Amino acid sequence: MKIICVGRNYADHAKELKNEVPAEPVIFMKPKGAVLLPWKPLYYPEFTDDLQYECEVVVKICKNGKYIQEKFADKYYDQVTLGIDFTARDLQRTQQAKGLPWEIAKAFDGSAAVGEFVPITVETTVSNLAFQLKKNGETVQDGHTRNMLFTVDQIIAYVSKFFTINIGDLIFTGTPAGVGPVNPGDMLEGILQGNKVLEVEVR
Ligand code: MG
Repeated sequence: MKIICVGRNYADHAKELKNEVPAEPVIFMKPKGAVLLPWKPLYYPEFTDDLQYECEVVVKICKNGKYIQEKFADKYYDQVTLGIDFTARDLQRTQQAKGLPWEIAKAFDGSAAVGEFVPITVETTVSNLAFQLKKNGETVQDGHTRNMLFTVDQIIAYVSKFFTINIGDLIFTGTPAGVGPVNPGDMLEGILQGNKVLEVEVR
């Protein structure tokens, strides 16, 4: 499986990092080894001094496909949860400044925390999901998927032009504003439509 991630998919987050709002989806990937399974802790990596959370809606692919049309894309995912795209912001900034790839800042072991998946139903239509991230009990991110610049269906149509998508692949759909640092001892909780689906303790 692979993890496909979208950068800068909410205008308010692009602005907070002083990035331009993109005309096409910004895509990057994480390897399978980046997955942090539900309810597992993350050990603070020694190579960064600025580990940050980015809470994102994550969908799971249920059908193999390539060149998927937007109008059929909703047949290709059937479960949703929240995830955290953990980012070594200091490494990302130095890589970006040099025009180098992001992987060491974004694709390291444990950098893709995933919550418990829930089936997509009328109540969990991906275009109409409210979600929050709490850090030590305080809400630090409060997002809604209606504010995505590119919908999940548009992302799948775009990505599948380049990459075959396979059953079990995950798509991290981008983070809203409010990203920030974590430190050992912090507790992160993700709330999707009022239900806690994600918990990560940083150690
Ligand atoms: Mg992200």
